[in-house]
Amino acid sequence: MDNTKLKITKQYAEEFDKKCAQINAHGFLRFLTETDDKDVSILDLIEQLGRSISVSSHKKEKEIDLTEKEIKDIIKEFYGRFPRLKEDVEKILDNTHPNFIDENGNSTIHIERQKGGEVSTGSVGHSGRHKYLNLELHLNGSVNDLTTIAHELAHAVSAHHTKKIEAIKENLPQEFDKLTHSSFARDCIVEIESHIIERLFNRFLMKKGILNEEDVKAYENGELISLLNEINLIREELDIIKQLSCPITEKSLTELVDKLYRDKNFRLIERIKTMHDTNKNSKHMFRYVVGRVISSVWIKRYEECSTKEEKRKMLTTFENYLSKTHKLDLDSACKKLLGQDFTAAVEDYCLGTLNERKV
Ligand SMILES: [Zn+2]
Repeated sequence: MDNTKLKITKQYAEEFDKKCAQINAHGFLRFLTETDDKDVSILDLIEQLGRSISVSSHKKEKEIDLTEKEIKDIIKEFYGRFPRLKEDVEKILDNTHPNFIDENGNSTIHIERQKGGEVSTGSVGHSGRHKYLNLELHLNGSVNDLTTIAHELAHAVSAHHTKKIEAIKENLPQEFDKLTHSSFARDCIVEIESHIIERLFNRFLMKKGILNEEDVKAYENGELISLLNEINLIREELDIIKQLSCPITEKSLTELVDKLYRDKNFRLIERIKTMHDTNKNSKHMFRYVVGRVISSVWIKRYEECSTKEEKRKMLTTFENYLSKTHKLDLDSACKKLLGQDFTAAVEDYCLGTLNERKV
């Protein structure tokens, strides 16, 4: 923890005000705090969620030693279960997918080996309206590499991303804007697809003998630790934003910080210090909360299926879902996948985890 006392300057307050405005873009604060007919807000739900989670200490990722070709073959085999996605995934991994070829005919997909490197990361995105999308993956020799590729591929083949790439390629800026700057409730569904894929992929790796049950448990525990961190971040940031009037001034921020020091609320002071980190703001993290929670409710249902046909049906529904993500918002996405809205799904999740703790 950084123990130096936080000193607020005019410039700091201005930057902080900008940061808070970014977090609150597309009505994030209203989305989180607006209550439904039962007087429950998404923020209340998240608090309930945080209380229902218990975690144990995190185990290290399993090391594997596979060649790039072996990794690609495993992932192709996994996606082979999805007739609609199979071909796209193969083309992406073979560097021949037209959506990932730049104006000079070169593939925009890079897979790098970084033995002993940090964690592997991947992203499907765009830099500016006129650029093609990139899929960049760094391999470091852990099972996480496989999962990351499977995760990013789910984004790459989902309609939300595909339509964005098409809008860039066909030079349709309005269409692109519509897909990029839509409402918050819509933007946060992107992580559902990739987290369902991760969970299915783990089970596939278990069947292949690459992971064992304990590895999957360790993965799921890691997911819970991340979820808890994300929930805390959202709750603390929102707590700070709610205590400040808009626009944030040097005076109002100094008063809040002084009050927090008097109350010995060092957690919130730490959060104020780290709120300048652009990637880790609550608006961004909320999508991971959505992804982790909805995918865990989904996989629980999937495992509870008593017949192969029921499982197949869930996979087909999921595959169809991926082709519609460009027109779904949070509630319609949850309804399509689980037959219930987001609130009901979170409540289900809380009940499930509470039950597990009782056993
Ligand atoms: Zn993702």
